[in-house]
Amino acid sequence: MANFYRDNDDIQFLFRHIDLGELAAVCEEDFKFSNEFDYAPVDADEAIQNYDIVLDSLGQLSGDFIAPRAEDVDRQGNTLNEDGSVTYAKGIRESLEKLAQAEVMGFTLPHRFGGLNFPNVVYSMAIEIVSRADAALMNIFGLQGIAETINAFATEEIKQKYLHDFSAGKVTGAMVLTEPDAGSDLQAIKLRAFTDDNGNWFLHGVKRFITNGCGDVLLVLARSELDRSGGLGLSLFVCDRGPTVHIRRLEDKLGIHGSPTCEIFFDNTPCEIIGERQRGLVTYVMALMNGARIGIADQSMGIAEAAFRVARDYAASRKQFAVAIEKLPAVRDMLIDMKIAIEAGRALLYETSRIVDIEVGYAKRLETDSRLRGNDNRDKAEAKQLKNDSRKYKRYTAMLTPMSKYYCSEMCNKIAYD
Ligand SMILES: Cc1cc2nc3c(=O)[nH]c(=O)nc-3n(C[C@H](O)[C@H](O)[C@H](O)COP(=O)(O)OP(=O)(O)OC[C@H]3O[C@@H](n4cnc5c(N)ncnc54)[C@H](O)[C@@H]3O)c2cc1C
Repeated sequence: MANFYRDNDDIQFLFRHIDLGELAAVCEEDFKFSNEFDYAPVDADEAIQNYDIVLDSLGQLSGDFIAPRAEDVDRQGNTLNEDGSVTYAKGIRESLEKLAQAEVMGFTLPHRFGGLNFPNVVYSMAIEIVSRADAALMNIFGLQGIAETINAFATEEIKQKYLHDFSAGKVTGAMVLTEPDAGSDLQAIKLRAFTDDNGNWFLHGVKRFITNGCGDVLLVLARSELDRSGGLGLSLFVCDRGPTVHIRRLEDKLGIHGSPTCEIFFDNTPCEIIGERQRGLVTYVMALMNGARIGIADQSMGIAEAAFRVARDYAASRKQFAVAIEKLPAVRDMLIDMKIAIEAGRALLYETSRIVDIEVGYAKRLETDSRLRGNDNRDKAEAKQLKNDSRKYKRYTAMLTPMSKYYCSEMCNKIAYD
């Protein structure tokens, strides 16, 4: 029996020492949802207990079920079928089913869509735990940002259409941005979005390197203003996988073979716009990418942790010069450096996720608390303070998010190499 949450002293330590009560109050908007939903926590203690229970069952699922399948998943990879559909490796299919049964596919989605409404910091712990078991599966588990983006920016109708299914694990999504001639430079995107006479939107063009591009719900960045070059000509759209969405090839990658990386041709695919025209890249994709950056940092932590444990166990069992090699100073120092680098990365990453939770919570409060828009002087002063704090935390996240992605992914590479 292995539990990738309980057996990790550093995650346990951080879980106990981060002020999760504060984050619970922010996410649960002072626990007002408990009046409406039986399963919403009534106070911070209950919320923290829920986080612990969910991480515990995810830790066990990761240790006992997902990890033992990871090697086969990597050998099998995905299959592009003649009809253009993609079949995941058997282990990925089985693990996704288990994750859906464990009700962890709507980690940060609101209760009203069947989500857990957990803070990002707990989601970070969860992604790391899954990634330690299977870094490829993490790519699909960690794409919950698609649903978060719909929740943050789409109309109520679109939210109702998709979000319950995301929480139930009935659908998976993809973030469809990159094109053959638009990688780092997303402003160069060419895929066209156009309307028919009735104002219905359609997509036409090619996307490349799309993780889980064979998923059910695709968020697509496209050029809606055909006469306008650059980022302000782009809008964000959502479409379903259907007969006009053709997977043309799967990338043959060096690793994470269980995660399908697809080239997609959209042949006049019906779609709906997310939010406002022209804000696709500058507002919505930037938010989506920030979540994805933290996801990559989480994934890096999981891989680094797995690599460290393999190295440590090997160094304890391998004997040279009549001693276990972990007793040799050069090897011992390397293992100690690995552990320090992992714990530093985790502290930085969880702090980043914590700050994101506070930033998101403050912004939501400013938007939804009508009292703060009233004429009472005390309310006005509180609103001003909240606005200032919100700006401050936005600046922190802008700094910490890329820093976490950079540090954790480089650290992960080095540990795997060592
Ligand atoms: C496994 C995998 C999964 C992916 N999943 C997705 C996905 O789900 N959705 C999606 O939309 N995309 C996805 N991508 C695409 C990924 O986002 C792009 O690969 C990335 O944006 C870089 O684009 P590019 O590969 O075209 O490289 P290029 O942009 O062509 O860059 C080539 C090289 O030039 C460097 N470079 C480029 N611009 C600059 C600059 N201004 N200054 C300095 N150096 C620069 C780059 O760092 C790189 O080393 C995935 C890619 C991979 C490999």
